[in-house]
Amino acid sequence: MSDQTDLSPATVAVTAGRPPRTPDQPVNPSVELSSTYQASPMSGDGDRVYARWGNATWPAFEEVLGRLEGGQALLFSSGMAAIAATLSLVPAGGRVVAPRHAYSGTLGLLGDLAAAGRLEVEQVDVADTDAVLDAVRGTQGQAPAALLWVETPTNPMLEVADLPALVAGARAAGALVAADNTFATPLGLRPLEHGVDVVVHSVTKYLSGHSDVVLGATVAADAAVHARLARYRTMHGAIAGPFEAWLALRGLRTLALRVERAGANAAELARRLSEHPAVARVRHPSLPEDPGHARAAAQMRGFGAIVAIEVAGGADAAERLCAATQVWAHATSLGGVESSLERRRRQPAESRTVPESLVRLSVGIEDVEDLWRDLEQALAASSGPGA
Ligand SMILES: *Cc1c(COP(=O)(O)O)cnc(C)c1O
Repeated sequence: MSDQTDLSPATVAVTAGRPPRTPDQPVNPSVELSSTYQASPMSGDGDRVYARWGNATWPAFEEVLGRLEGGQALLFSSGMAAIAATLSLVPAGGRVVAPRHAYSGTLGLLGDLAAAGRLEVEQVDVADTDAVLDAVRGTQGQAPAALLWVETPTNPMLEVADLPALVAGARAAGALVAADNTFATPLGLRPLEHGVDVVVHSVTKYLSGHSDVVLGATVAADAAVHARLARYRTMHGAIAGPFEAWLALRGLRTLALRVERAGANAAELARRLSEHPAVARVRHPSLPEDPGHARAAAQMRGFGAIVAIEVAGGADAAERLCAATQVWAHATSLGGVESSLERRRRQPAESRTVPESLVRLSVGIEDVEDLWRDLEQALAASSGPGA
């Protein structure tokens, strides 16, 4: 018999979170649609009472993700709900150090909480380790930060943080560290192994992988932190519907195949785009000349499947590029089997320091030559004469 703890992540994604092997019983967990449960005897301590507190559909997904990340996972109604739960760990008035480029919703929520006086926010270049740790320690008279928020690679600028150095410095200063691992996935990076306290995911993206659900997750290293996040979920009602949870588990089964294929496609397209005259700059950590390449190679497995390009013709040419593709979907979001692209600054919430001409490409699992031909024709259509 194989030792279940020895299994590789690709195997865990397929085998974990299944019902016990009972003859004639299903191989897959079922979707359980019940808001309430038969009462257990007063003497008993049954763990299902009411479905907001816990139900039979979440634990299968949570077991798989927990095993992949190496901690205790909780499924939430969205990535933002998981982020809100994690920010609730910050004591009133506490200081949060966050990347200046990060998921726009994270920065938006931090801004709202700061405006309400709930916490303080300081934004830094997360790739500049000294600047991050100076901010975490605080200047004279300032208390150290309560929480360091890390995203690596960042959305949409693909900056790579030196995770081991940031965690060591933050821990020495007594700050909690949270990492949004949506871009890397646990197959590309395991932040808890580097000493991060809480990992958050937009399960909407790679973990589900088919652009058909909105869900989120936290994974905590420590049981007490996990319990606080679970209480937040119950009290704020930030819960996943059973059907979405079941779809997310179905998607998670193929994570290894999807991440491998999308990552290989992304690296190949990044290389070709970096030689294309209509593209002024390509950001992807797989490129040897990318500022994050050495760090990503040291701490990640693969380089992820999000690529950002700056279109030489500017914002208008970038919009024309997005409108001219036929295989690539012109849509926001990322992490689906289908390739998609978007000029990020068309979103009013995007950081002002993201270039106007930046197009974020979420590379999917289609044939790479089809993806390339479509990009080539769309680049020609957007930059050629009469465009
Ligand atoms: C999409 C996204 C989120 C937000 O997740 P939702 O599921 O949309 O709430 C958070 N972080 C990153 C990096 C994302 O891409």
